[in-house]
Amino acid sequence: MSQYIFETKTEEETRRLANKLALLLRPGEVLTLEGDLGAGKTTFTKGLGAGLGVRRTINSPTFTIVKEYMGEIPLYHMDVYRLEDSEEDIGFDEYFNGEGITVVEWASFIEEFLPEERLEIQIKRIDEHTRNIIFHPIGGHFDSVCKELYS
Ligand code: ADP
Ligand code: MG
Repeated sequence: MSQYIFETKTEEETRRLANKLALLLRPGEVLTLEGDLGAGKTTFTKGLGAGLGVRRTINSPTFTIVKEYMGEIPLYHMDVYRLEDSEEDIGFDEYFNGEGITVVEWASFIEEFLPEERLEIQIKRIDEHTRNIIFHPIGGHFDSVCKELYS
């Protein structure tokens, strides 16, 4: 599996990377986001939202499974943590094939519902300010997106 590794040194750099990624995405695309608490998942999602033209403040979707944000392209921010061990389908297809970009946290809990083509993103905390942001594109389209981002 190919991977693309970016290193950021500030919160701002993480936001900017996500913002740049957003400009390469199209409606109906799905990203998964993985990383420990404090790694920068919400920070990354904020940058992504900014790039999609979302104006409302983006927060962690702790108490709801999906938060929808209107933008030039809508953003669907999912945290499916509470669906662990449940086979429940909350209508994932509506989101995954919808008009927006979906970001899924704890995506491994809904593996069976994820679209085949997707961009898996892993954020690793290296030290207080350094993060490695690792992209695993699944499918040719996301491979092109990553190459574009890297250039
Ligand atoms: P998560 O949603 O993964 O729990 P957050 O995005 O809420 O993480 O928090 C990340 C924290 O790490 C913030 O306090 C942010 O200021 C800090 N931080 C420091 N350096 C970076 C960096 N390079 N990228 C992202 N966040 C960083
Ligand atoms: Mg968070």
